[in-house]
Amino acid sequence: MEKPWLKNYPSDVPEFIDLAQYDSVLDIVEQSCETHADSIAFLNMGATLTFRQLEQQSRAFAAYLQHELKMQPGDRCAIMMPNLLQYPIALFGILRAGLIAVNVNPLYTQRELQHQLADSGARMIVAISNFGATLEKVLPQTSIEHVIMTHIGDLLPQPKRTLVNFAIKYVKKMIPAFHIENAISIRKVLAAGRKLSYHRPACKPEDIAYLQYTGGTTGIAKGAMLTHRNIVANVLQVYGQFSPRTLLSKDYVVTPLPLYHIFANSVSLMFIMMIGGRNLLITNPRDMDSFIKELQGYPFTIFFGLNTLFSGMLKNEKFRALDFSNARFTIAGGMPTQEDVAKEWQAVTGMPVVEGYGLTECSPVVCSGIHTQQKYTAGIGVPLPSTEMRVVNDDHQALGINVVGELQVRGPQVMAGYWKQAEATAESIDADGWFSTGDMARMDKDGYFFIVDRKKDMILVSGFNVYSVEIEEILLLHPDIEEAAVIGLPHAVTGERVKAFICSSNKTLTSKEVQTHCRRYLTAYKVPRVIEFRDDLPKSSVGKVLKRELLTPVTDERI
Ligand code: AMP
Repeated sequence: MEKPWLKNYPSDVPEFIDLAQYDSVLDIVEQSCETHADSIAFLNMGATLTFRQLEQQSRAFAAYLQHELKMQPGDRCAIMMPNLLQYPIALFGILRAGLIAVNVNPLYTQRELQHQLADSGARMIVAISNFGATLEKVLPQTSIEHVIMTHIGDLLPQPKRTLVNFAIKYVKKMIPAFHIENAISIRKVLAAGRKLSYHRPACKPEDIAYLQYTGGTTGIAKGAMLTHRNIVANVLQVYGQFSPRTLLSKDYVVTPLPLYHIFANSVSLMFIMMIGGRNLLITNPRDMDSFIKELQGYPFTIFFGLNTLFSGMLKNEKFRALDFSNARFTIAGGMPTQEDVAKEWQAVTGMPVVEGYGLTECSPVVCSGIHTQQKYTAGIGVPLPSTEMRVVNDDHQALGINVVGELQVRGPQVMAGYWKQAEATAESIDADGWFSTGDMARMDKDGYFFIVDRKKDMILVSGFNVYSVEIEEILLLHPDIEEAAVIGLPHAVTGERVKAFICSSNKTLTSKEVQTHCRRYLTAYKVPRVIEFRDDLPKSSVGKVLKRELLTPVTDERI
């Protein structure tokens, strides 16, 4: 196929990456820990973890899973925590034991958590105690046999550990009572694991490294099977496009995006680790005061983020007053970056925003604007090395220059398929290996790509995917709601926000009651912010709700 983007590749960006460099993620971890042993790999809340410590602790974690918990290669292990030093230790411990990591959003409601744990068949979970109460309720409905529990401050030096854990428990009252039988403390796991011998499992490139949950194009949460080859490929592809011109092992990176999301996990955790960079993990980016305190005195050079975060930070005077003298550039993804936000961000911080586009199913990065900066604000750049992109019609025939159609991707970063979902896999990846993204796009004559719309029924709130079908199902659980349809409305800060249209014979039903109902089942970002009551919904001749027709002014907005 024709690849017009290749003429935009600078001479040091390869057309293909050499996949033979690493067989598995374990090779990357081990090589980095050896090469950069005494450098700092991660920082969080004033504490640090060197590559050597990461190597020792993840080994100890892996040894405990192998010997004490008798986990077998291929078993699934869930991780449910925010960005803490414990995250890379648990993640690499799991991978080093030959197990499959299932990254879980710690803010999930009972229903969401239960689905993910039950569907993945995870035997073990490493969880943060703040969310122990939710976990306690779902455990009987899952196949979890072992719970490793950690408190936020567990890896901080004393007396900070006690202070942080005390503050979270008693001052901030963030830990509701829960009781999980036989939960093992992470500190005990690490201490005991150190005395056990770790044996490296045989790990093949096609072995699954992650089950990464996403709605795909249909909205029902499915585990994308990301293999070791997928992750290794994506790390090398990003490296091929960004380096060596732009990234150095001396870089200081800021990671406020959650590590349970594949963008932060693959790019800012794995990729930065491979190049030996220092990575500041931000536990709760919404706590702006603590975030800014973490940034003060940290000579950051690269910042990972997304549009919502940038506009929030720009409103904060203390952020604007930070020392940006070392700052080099910002990597954004997950949602479109608005031009005015990117411009102001650059004016204040000196960092240009390099936008990438990707999806969970592509491990995740597909293309970026790193060497196409003049066009980045409108577009998503050009494909990474060893990546093909094309725009097709409904019959999967390639379309011409600037014609809008569905974007398809082919490359070594495309997942092996959806976990236990052969049908959904066959629908999304064709016999020639083309993955259908569900995004509508066009390619210009120079091979630059532009996202124009979405084919899949998905709403993007601050980079989080919200699937209309999931919200509609929850709305219909309410006894007074007869019909429901959900769409995305444009929003200046979050990109989009969720709007629900409801038909109810109970004329006294209020938006607040509907939102309270939704909150019981859905994480906060999925709860409809705007609710409109209608007598009926516009439908096609076959009864399908015509969502485009719903984008008309509000008629009945009850509070
Ligand atoms: P996820 O699987 O959570 O990574 O979400 C992937 C989806 O986010 C894509 O299918 C796009 O709809 C959207 N997305 C990701 N990056 C961008 C971007 N740079 N611009 C526009 N949409 C994006």
